[in-house]
Amino acid sequence: MDIKVQSKQKLNNANFNSCSLKFNAKMRVIPLIKAKVLLTTDQFINSKENYMKITDKTVVQFHYVLKDEAGEEIESSQGSEPLAYLHGANNTLVGLEKALTDKEAGDKFSVTLQPEEAYGERQEDLIQRVPVKHLQGLPSKNAKWKAGMVAVVHTEQGQRQVTVIKAGKFMITVDINPPLAGKVITFDIEVVDVRAATDEEVEHGHAHGVGGHHH
Ligand SMILES: [Zn+2]
Repeated sequence: MDIKVQSKQKLNNANFNSCSLKFNAKMRVIPLIKAKVLLTTDQFINSKENYMKITDKTVVQFHYVLKDEAGEEIESSQGSEPLAYLHGANNTLVGLEKALTDKEAGDKFSVTLQPEEAYGERQEDLIQRVPVKHLQGLPSKNAKWKAGMVAVVHTEQGQRQVTVIKAGKFMITVDINPPLAGKVITFDIEVVDVRAATDEEVEHGHAHGVGGHHH
């Protein structure tokens, strides 16, 4: 009711000799009515007891934009499924997990991480020569490895991203440091969903379903 009275007052006060003002006054009516409906929905949603906070053994879905120190976008989940992870199970970067703790669905925030809470400091002794056939991820069949390209190698610890330093015919010199080692990075995060993990997820130590493991 308040909103209606306000919009009536605005209509009465508007200078109807001015075409544009008249137009504006009319335009206002619809958004105000909509706003009222939205308010009611918001109040319902914002009865925060319905919302689960991110704690250990919750599965979190989130969208992210990853930026370097200069603010340039490195990677983003926009346009694809949100990422899902099991909180408290070492599934994501230490600093990111810390920043996500106690957040809820709908929360948006940015967090800047120093290397020690992200991909670690660069280690200079992580340069290795590996046979070409062990490198995966060439953009096309006929492409050749060149310095600066990122490849995937399989190690005992699973898949790893490496950076090509020097490419020979049979052997490639690669830097095994993660590409973002030693870098200060910023995440813009939007929490999409928070739910309790299933017993199976806790047992497996990772999230299943959208954005998580499929097996
Ligand atoms: Zn699993």
